Amino acid sequence: MSDHYLKVKCQLEQMKTVGGDAERHGVATEEHLPQSSPPDPCSIPTSGREAPSTPSTSKHRGKIRSKQGKDDKSSCGKDSTEVPLHRSVVSARVGQNLNGQEHERSLHLKETGKMLQGKSETNGNCVTIHASKHIQENPREDGFKVARRSRPVTVDTSKAKTSLEALKLSIKQLKWKEYPLGRRAACDIHWHGISFHDNESIVSGQVNKFPGMIEMLRKVNLSRAMRTVQELFPEEYDFYPRSWILPEEYEQFSTQIRMVKENDATVNPTFIVKPDGGSQGDGIYLIRGPSDPKLTACSQAKQGVVQEYIQKPLLIDKLKFDIRLYVLIKSLEPLEIYIAKEGLTRFCTEPYQEPNQKNMSHVYMHLTNYSLNIHSGNFVHSDSQSTGSKRTLSSVLYRLAAKGVDIKRVWSDIIALVIKTVIAVVPELKVYYQADIPPGKPGPTCFQILGFDILLMKNLKPVLLEVNSNPSMRIEHEMKVSPGVFEFVPSPVDEEVKVCVIRDTLRLMDPGHKKLPVSQPRAGGCEDKEEIQMEAETQERSPEDGALPSLCLKQVYPKYTKQFNSLRLMERVASLFIRFLGVKGNMRLGPTAFRTFIRTCKLSNSNFTMASVDILYIDITRRWSGTVPDSREAGMGLQAFVEAFFFMAGRRFKSLLLREQVGSLLELCEAQLESQMAVDDRRSVSCSRALPRSVRSQTLAQPHLGSPAPVRRATSQDCRPHHRLKPRTLRANVET
Ligand code: ADP
Repeated sequence: MSDHYLKVKCQLEQMKTVGGDAERHGVATEEHLPQSSPPDPCSIPTSGREAPSTPSTSKHRGKIRSKQGKDDKSSCGKDSTEVPLHRSVVSARVGQNLNGQEHERSLHLKETGKMLQGKSETNGNCVTIHASKHIQENPREDGFKVARRSRPVTVDTSKAKTSLEALKLSIKQLKWKEYPLGRRAACDIHWHGISFHDNESIVSGQVNKFPGMIEMLRKVNLSRAMRTVQELFPEEYDFYPRSWILPEEYEQFSTQIRMVKENDATVNPTFIVKPDGGSQGDGIYLIRGPSDPKLTACSQAKQGVVQEYIQKPLLIDKLKFDIRLYVLIKSLEPLEIYIAKEGLTRFCTEPYQEPNQKNMSHVYMHLTNYSLNIHSGNFVHSDSQSTGSKRTLSSVLYRLAAKGVDIKRVWSDIIALVIKTVIAVVPELKVYYQADIPPGKPGPTCFQILGFDILLMKNLKPVLLEVNSNPSMRIEHEMKVSPGVFEFVPSPVDEEVKVCVIRDTLRLMDPGHKKLPVSQPRAGGCEDKEEIQMEAETQERSPEDGALPSLCLKQVYPKYTKQFNSLRLMERVASLFIRFLGVKGNMRLGPTAFRTFIRTCKLSNSNFTMASVDILYIDITRRWSGTVPDSREAGMGLQAFVEAFFFMAGRRFKSLLLREQVGSLLELCEAQLESQMAVDDRRSVSCSRALPRSVRSQTLAQPHLGSPAPVRRATSQDCRPHHRLKPRTLRANVET
């Protein structure tokens, strides 16, 4: 019997006991609710709510548990639904036979290939929960091959900061080599605690941060990026609450809310104000509307976001909670996204009520931040993953499944939310990337783990709260040891989740893995929505040495490409923008480059003269330079370019929807560039006819896979200097 199985079995018993404890304390268990109809998910009582525990009490409880576990063998009942899913979210299938008397459930333990099966009857008599035969794992399709290595993969951990402990454990499990003080020779992987720029001298290998990610995911920038895609695809991006940027959109906010209230006087919305760049709930407060004195005092001073407050979140134990999901962006070009199958849920510590004048300032009721709630007297530290103020996502989903909630639907909505959000921020990330690692310049390739904070609404719809570029990878938590004194102690829940995420990220980034022709995204031009699977059916790969569990990260993109590809419109706009940036390392278009873009794409005409183009450039650029306080360079940034592009698209294709206008203008520009390139190619061939074939093909070669820079083929400008060069100079350049 494997350790893993023993652990799971032990947890099953613990869970049963916790349910038993709850019963003894008179707390309702889920099974007291009717099973036949979907329960009100907003008020699922728990069996796991406990009094705050100290380490000693939890030890004590451990003893009680094991005893109770024995008892459960004969009389386990209602509580047996509380089986935690260990390490794998969601392979829980809770079936009911037609008369509703019996549930069959099976837990697919992915790392062992075993199935735990259980039957319980609604009358409370437990039948059995036992480990059954191995389940046939799906064949590998991940396209990885482990190349023979003569030396272990090297990891520079000198900048890892708070993720160090989890990283060390991961490296140890992989039997890789850690360089805690860095290394003069290049390492294969450089693990940075904060930013791509933590170490400026890296020119090869891989870094676990993308340039620009911090900037892109600040609250204001994320809101801007989401706003743009919401304008294009309002139905697809309705998972992000309506937001206004402060102080610049205060008037807009004011007007819109006034209009809403004029239309319907019964509407009584609440808003949440968040300072830009804030984290851990710092500086966040709720308001009733634009005239709230708190807002008017702050709105002029600080940049931030005011956002529609979700008033009806899903509750468990009457508490609000949110989900922390770990997402790996493995590469920008081609875009590859993985989601960790296990995540965390963070609970408030004061029972939730919809906002009213009395409770608006109760942070323990409205904010789920761990860093805030840890200071509440009601915070529950628990050794179990399915009780307490921080739990695994799987344990929460399992409870919902046991209540009859369609968690497959919830999970697939969450995956869609993640993919769409990444699609929204990728265009600007590509601009940052090419500025820091221009094509042709030596540099590392990048990957990054992001932390998605997601709230489930009462109707189970997931809502994106924010994306963290530096999700905490600490595997210890703060514990109050005496009044006012906190100490860091190991946190089993954090370790369980985070070490797997880091370790499996490393495995995916292992430079020894040669990529074979990847199983292509499912082909076909069908517009139908493809069902997003809960299970990573194809991405599991067996461990190279048999000792490691299968991956906890599931590829979701390009796996589910079909239904999301049409959303990648802004990347095409960004590609145009990058193409005309000209100088390497630049992030802004100058007026001449903007004119070149207009001319090359033949966008000016008698109705839109070059003089109007100049005015458009000046007008938009001036406005944007006022709204982006940290703009380092003068000129037109991507967001301003997007505004100009939308404006031109609107003028030219008046009768269409915005996304069709933008799509049509893009096609027009791309067609012009294609024909321009064809001409340039012909010229380039003729002007390099004397060159050896190998050199000719090099000039048109694709950049390496990790680089997000668009393929820069020779443009007319690239070729022109060749014409001007004297033959001898040309030859000299080529040899260099
Ligand atoms: P921070 O980076 O400071 O943690 P968040 O955007 O994550 O800021 O917000 C902090 C907390 O506030 C969230 O964890 C969540 O509990 C709550 N929250 C944030 N936005 C909303 C919203 N729109 N509706 C309801 N609750 C929200």
